[in-house]
Amino acid sequence: MKTTHFERAIFLSWYCAKGDCKFCYMSTQKSLIRDPRKARRSTASILAEAFLCKKLGWKIEFLSGGYESYTTEELLNLIGKIRAIYGEKLWLNIGVLNEKELRLFKPYIQGVCGAVECINPKIHDKVCPSKPIKEIESMFRLCDKLGLKKSMTIIIGLGETINDFPLLKKFIRKHKINKITFYRLKPHKGTPFRKGPKTDYYLRWIRKTRKEFPKLEIVAGSWLTHLDEIHLLLDGGADAITKFPSIKLFNSKYAKKIEQEAKKAGRKFTGTLTKLPKINYNDLNKFDEPLKEQITAKLNIYISRMKI
Ligand code: SF4
Repeated sequence: MKTTHFERAIFLSWYCAKGDCKFCYMSTQKSLIRDPRKARRSTASILAEAFLCKKLGWKIEFLSGGYESYTTEELLNLIGKIRAIYGEKLWLNIGVLNEKELRLFKPYIQGVCGAVECINPKIHDKVCPSKPIKEIESMFRLCDKLGLKKSMTIIIGLGETINDFPLLKKFIRKHKINKITFYRLKPHKGTPFRKGPKTDYYLRWIRKTRKEFPKLEIVAGSWLTHLDEIHLLLDGGADAITKFPSIKLFNSKYAKKIEQEAKKAGRKFTGTLTKLPKINYNDLNKFDEPLKEQITAKLNIYISRMKI
């Protein structure tokens, strides 16, 4: 039986140095955060989240945010710790990295994600004025040189049409992309967007991508308002599901719905969004006592939330 699973993006901070992508919640927050270092999450809370991902069978989609909230050395240290607790090499989605940074992070990562967001160049330049695609492409060329994998994110509903699909096809071919994450646009208050795409249209992008690229890893985000579409996204070619507040809504009707949708698509759902397994904390012994205590305290908070 074919399987599917849930992937969770782990945020390292709540600050973004760009902060001007028209669709993004962060763009509505930037002016409220004067000191990016204060928007950082604690190391213990990040590590507790990575530990839960491992124990509950959630794949870490990528580590996100954090760019310009940490120094390179701080990031290196943090990524090393997350790799140690998670036990697998990670994906990074923290902006465009240069060769020196990529070489530094390489022991802990399998690849990097380019946040392309919109493949139509005119719309892209309007909605993501500070994230030129050319810079992402340069980073991908460095990945080829260094033997790192490449992934990309695309948001459907920003104004592109299905006639732009050939541009996506060309981009994936050109850069030999290993993994793509599709998101449906979720309009945020304070942004100019008012509605997300219809399921049929969203699905067409996933179906077409799967048809062109049978081996590409495809992850699809949905949202609480559209969980009925998940079996269609899986049937259409998605390998995994993302964009679900899996700690906050653990074992909720929404979490149950996702597992049911996987079943409806004839997939075995690996990992769990509904049943809390007995968790052995021994793996935390690799950290020094103060950090171990802090991670355990955070874990206890998360787990008590998940039991409600
Ligand atoms: S999409 Fe990414 S780069 Fe753009 S504002 Fe949001 S967090 Fe920053």
